[in-house]
Amino acid sequence: MSSLWLSQNEIFEDIDFKSNINEDISTDVCIIGAGIFGLTCGYYLTKLGYKVTILEKDEISSKATGHTTGKITSQHGLFYDYLTNSYGHKFARDYLYANEEAIQNIKNIIDEENINCDFKYQNAFVYTTNKEELPIIKKEYKAITDLGYNCELVTKTGLPFNIVSAICFKNQADFHPVKYLAGLCKCIIKRNGEIYINTTAVDVKMDNSDYITYANGHQIKSKFVIIATHYPFINFPGFYFTKMYQSTSYLIAIDPKRTLANGMYISATSPTLSFRTASYGNKEVLLIGGMDHKTGHPSSYKDTYGKLEEVAKKYYPDSDILFRWDTRDCISLDKLPYIGSFSTAMPNMFVGTGFKKWGMTLSNVASNIIVDKICGNYNKYSYLFKATRLKPIKNHDEFKNMLVQSTNSLLLDKLKRPQTSFDEIASNSGSIIEVNGQKVGIYKDENDKIYAVKPICTHLGCLLSWNDIDKTWDCPCHGSRFNFDGKNLYDPAFKDLDTYDL
Ligand SMILES: Cc1cc2nc3c(=O)[nH]c(=O)nc-3n(C[C@H](O)[C@H](O)[C@H](O)COP(=O)(O)OP(=O)(O)OC[C@H]3O[C@@H](n4cnc5c(N)ncnc54)[C@H](O)[C@@H]3O)c2cc1C
Repeated sequence: MSSLWLSQNEIFEDIDFKSNINEDISTDVCIIGAGIFGLTCGYYLTKLGYKVTILEKDEISSKATGHTTGKITSQHGLFYDYLTNSYGHKFARDYLYANEEAIQNIKNIIDEENINCDFKYQNAFVYTTNKEELPIIKKEYKAITDLGYNCELVTKTGLPFNIVSAICFKNQADFHPVKYLAGLCKCIIKRNGEIYINTTAVDVKMDNSDYITYANGHQIKSKFVIIATHYPFINFPGFYFTKMYQSTSYLIAIDPKRTLANGMYISATSPTLSFRTASYGNKEVLLIGGMDHKTGHPSSYKDTYGKLEEVAKKYYPDSDILFRWDTRDCISLDKLPYIGSFSTAMPNMFVGTGFKKWGMTLSNVASNIIVDKICGNYNKYSYLFKATRLKPIKNHDEFKNMLVQSTNSLLLDKLKRPQTSFDEIASNSGSIIEVNGQKVGIYKDENDKIYAVKPICTHLGCLLSWNDIDKTWDCPCHGSRFNFDGKNLYDPAFKDLDTYDL
């Protein structure tokens, strides 16, 4: 399901992307992945005169960034009380101001480069409609004001329903993320950067002090590599698959058929509900998002898009639904991104990941940290996010869940006999069945055409589960996703599934 942002194909029409590496290349920095993080790094580095080569597996912004909500804010839900309690006052303050600076950095890029991406200053609200949640809102408000930040506690917002309380951050913003990325691409190419689309990096190796990235049967030699693939596709070293999971959220864009108030909103607790307005042609539309769950875990249309549609119909009864889409983001076990050297063994290979659904600002923070590392400059925020940190795991429940999930999907579920037989699979649905003792993933389309795949993730071998909402095979361990015909869609896997001829 395509997002509102990706519905305008012409955005990338006049950009001169390359699509085939047909010789070995030598460059200063090889960036793998062209979402907001990879392209922001590319923007800053080409501006500084570095020779940059960017490899993108698919099309630009086809993954998380093309499906985001596009709020640019330092208000990351309820977060600052948690940060202060877990890491102390200075840490929480630096996190807040790093993200505040990122809003200004994004605005500076847009102004300096004349990027037309619907950037608009907005107030951001985290709200509750539940009296029992008032104490946690007050605690968060106190934590934020203790950091010296000027926010407001309010009881009235532009939402179409009454709230009990909300914390308002002023001078936050929203934009059209795909138009922004197109603007970054133009700047990079203008400064002699190269962007290769439909080009998958399959490995990176060290060669003395250089790095060799392998893609399309060729080698890209560079002094530095940036892994900007959302979820790192390299498992060893790094071991990111032991310290992150992915969470999926859903969005609808509606024509509300009435005037909307300004502001960006997010509920204080689960199930998350998020709201923002956006331009679509000459209309002003409303985005309603939320209903998150761990990627690869079972969910239904009714519990995801269905709930968002209920909200739309309740408050905007005449509304039309224009777009529905979902995507996912990486969440680390301590809720902080991983930014910096990928591993101590590969110090000039960098990573930025684990943006926990706040990657618009955090990708800018990450890009500045990594660019400073490449230039040999000190960055006052880099200590917050060290990618090689070995801190005690604070989120024990999530760690346990991840271990249980991996053990089940890697071992136990593979031993269980599937409960479904071939005949029981309905049209336009899928399931795992057993054929001659082997598990086979079957999808029957609307005309009962059959697609058969080996339902084992090409990342680390977990048993996949059927996602009946998007008609995909999803990995419950690390969040990779494959189309019903086996084509790889989402990282960390980058290889397609084996298929069976019928
Ligand atoms: C539903 C939802 C709503 C969100 N809303 C907001 C919001 O309002 N505000 C906010 O701040 N954040 C939000 N986020 C988070 C934000 O969208 C992400 O953090 C951000 O887009 C991640 O950017 P990225 O560049 O790391 O990843 P991506 O945009 O996924 O880019 C990674 C790129 O790497 C490519 N790639 C992968 N593997 C390879 C390979 N082997 N070789 C070459 N290329 C490869 C992929 O194809 C992809 O294009 C939201 C997230 C979700 C899930």
